[in-house]
Amino acid sequence: MTASFDSAAHEAAKPGPHPVAAPSAKSTIAGLGRAGLSEALAAIGVPEKQRRMRVNQLWGWLYVRGVTGFDQMTDVSKELRGKLTQAYTLDRPEIVSEQVSIDGTRKWLLRLPKLGHELRAPEIETVYIPESDRGTLCISSQVGCTLNCSFCHTGTQKLVRNLEVQEIVGQILLARDRIGDWPGAAPLGDARLLPDSDRKITNIVLMGMGEPLYNFDHVRDAMEVASDGEGLSVSKRRITLSTSGVVPEIARWGEEAGTMLAISLHATRDELRDELVPINKKYPIKELMRACSDYPGLSNARRITFEYVMLKGVNDSLADARALVRLLAGVPAKINLIPFNPWPGTSYECSDWETIERFADVVNKAGYASPVRTPRGRDILAACGQLKSESLKLRASERAADGNSSDQAG
Ligand code: SAH
Ligand code: SF4
Repeated sequence: MTASFDSAAHEAAKPGPHPVAAPSAKSTIAGLGRAGLSEALAAIGVPEKQRRMRVNQLWGWLYVRGVTGFDQMTDVSKELRGKLTQAYTLDRPEIVSEQVSIDGTRKWLLRLPKLGHELRAPEIETVYIPESDRGTLCISSQVGCTLNCSFCHTGTQKLVRNLEVQEIVGQILLARDRIGDWPGAAPLGDARLLPDSDRKITNIVLMGMGEPLYNFDHVRDAMEVASDGEGLSVSKRRITLSTSGVVPEIARWGEEAGTMLAISLHATRDELRDELVPINKKYPIKELMRACSDYPGLSNARRITFEYVMLKGVNDSLADARALVRLLAGVPAKINLIPFNPWPGTSYECSDWETIERFADVVNKAGYASPVRTPRGRDILAACGQLKSESLKLRASERAADGNSSDQAG
């Protein structure tokens, strides 16, 4: 199931008209919410009665126009622009590499500024998946993940920290820079296979690195920025948070953020789920299903997506399929069967295609439509669960040597 490597795949993006600024000692305000921007203005002496108006100005420049320099903010006084430039930047996370898959999927490896105690700058990944009528951005919420699901590459990464609000929103800004998804902007890099829709990023999924409910406040504030109708305007119905099942936070997420929800289920018995998704030991399936049934706003029009990774000989029997259907009866649900994406060092294998089809048949007959998620960006290791930014990660040249690909990185 390996795709050939795209001849257009390339590393190390070059700065274009939306320059990717080098990280500096000044902190970025691109990505902050209204409260954060207001504080940033207060810190450089903007009087309280002006702040609201100034925040509104900044908001339009940052999130409607996507500017990357304060000098472009023509309706902001020269004096204030000067102060802003002295104190802050509009940097996005720094691009370490950009890869474009043969199917148009793009993956960015991003370097974040070091926080106080960190010895080295942490890295995360962001993936863009274009389809004909939509573009989905898969963003990370943490560096690494503490949860160690046994089939997930991210869980093997040692370094873990929560992303700041700017670092979460920064992934959206950066992707829009690179895809040219700002008014009047042209795409940078390889522009093939972008969707036909006016906006190139129509959907956001929190399915990159990390457990988003373990970084609740920052992810919530970032999604407020992403969904703000006067700014980035990605509606909450087009934002999906995926969780491994942090039960106590699910209802709160529904109340405070109200996005769509996806649950990484992967097994219908506690014994097996304990092994695959160890947080299950703390919050077993019964509690998880109760939290799902109680999810605020749940209806047939707003279903929960249950993700189920297909692991050969582990959870892929017809009995498993029937148990899945039984477990979900009564909950407005969608089912996503995810072919397991192998990574270097894993002992799991993906179920055979026939097994997946037979499993999907059972699920289909129970009334769930097209449940198998087609893997995207396999040639650049961009698929779910393959994101990992350190050590074991293969370089493009090593992958080429692997014999599966013919990388002609430019
Ligand atoms: N931590 C969150 C969100 C990130 S993982 C969560 O677990 O839900 C996004 C999805 O990818 C989850 O459903 C996860 O279980 C799945 N996943 C992880 N590793 C995978 C792999 N190697 N192959 C396929 N899916 C994987
Ligand atoms: Fe963390 Fe999700 Fe991977 Fe589990 S599947 S280790 S929760 S990122």
